[in-house]
Amino acid sequence: MFGTLPSPCGPGSATGATDQGVTNTAIHIAYGDDRGFAAQPGLDKEMGDAVKAMIKWCNDQGGILGRQVVGDYYDAAITQVNSVMQQACKTDFMLVGEGFATALSAAWGKPALGIHHLEGHLLAPLLEPRSPAFPFLALLVSGGHTQLVDVEALGRYRILGETLDDAAGEAFDKTAKLLGLPYPGGAALASLAERGRSGEFVFPRPMLDRPGLDFSFSGLKTAALVALRGRELSDSVRADVARGFEEAVIETLAEKCRRALQQTGHRRLVVAGGVGANRRLRERLATIVRDSNAELYFPRAEFCTDNGAMIALAGCMRLAAGMRGGMGMSAQANWELESLHG
Ligand code: ATP
Ligand code: FE
Repeated sequence: MFGTLPSPCGPGSATGATDQGVTNTAIHIAYGDDRGFAAQPGLDKEMGDAVKAMIKWCNDQGGILGRQVVGDYYDAAITQVNSVMQQACKTDFMLVGEGFATALSAAWGKPALGIHHLEGHLLAPLLEPRSPAFPFLALLVSGGHTQLVDVEALGRYRILGETLDDAAGEAFDKTAKLLGLPYPGGAALASLAERGRSGEFVFPRPMLDRPGLDFSFSGLKTAALVALRGRELSDSVRADVARGFEEAVIETLAEKCRRALQQTGHRRLVVAGGVGANRRLRERLATIVRDSNAELYFPRAEFCTDNGAMIALAGCMRLAAGMRGGMGMSAQANWELESLHG
């Protein structure tokens, strides 16, 4: 839930982002995200693209990421943090991370910013070469959230609608479990659905019969459970249920996006969060924006799910805008997105 910016990033900062520098920076950036800690062993490979994209963004803004010398102190700290992370619960992750980031910040004399995790998701499409300008409408569909957000500018977010119960990703994961798929099951359910037939199972489109921009997905899991009851769980039945479930979620998300575009007059729709990696969702949203005379933006799949680059990007953008983050460096498990101004 926080970001660190141990490397210089902004106008007038040091130059020299060599390949070695990229690798080192990857460590810093990954450590800005709570899962970044866990991802450390495979870091270079996993984070390479993310880091390069963020460096490009910084360069485009006129700042250049500097090369950091990573000393024995840093390696020792990483080893220690990794061992703590093996046993930590989520709140502990945040506290350990906060302490680690604060220590690095003090040691290197660099700013450390608290970054809201959802702000990272919302800004992730800006990591791409074709990125949206402010303002835009965002559909944030992740494991814990389903929100339509009016993004007026950096730090200015208004929630237009959100789920009243399960998040879309949560519904994917629960239904995937019913279908015998391992957690998190969203991507696996989507690939199972590729083999399924459309129309064999038709599930409800929750909340479409009501005005407004809220969502509800908990009933879909129950509908899938009822559909499967008493049936032999053959591959074709599982695939057909997956297809019917996916279509219901996508149709609901797409229709609410259409309404939100109409209501706000926005001409740019951004899709972010893990479910944003769903191919059929992207295709369906592409038709919605075409009909609404708008444009669609999304991050590549690996920037849809949690990643360190999106947190680092949000930190870079805040620094470049002269913002110091809304809360300094104290970890918060519950933090209102709408309270983030400058
Ligand atoms: P939050 O950001 O709300 O705290 P999170 O960080 O756990 O939640 P993300 O990492 O953004 O969520 O996304 C993970 C979710 O995305 C999981 O529920 C996963 O099943 C889902 N997901 C990933 N790929 C796909 C896909 N192709 N289709 C549908 N769902 C997917
Ligand atoms: Fe997330």
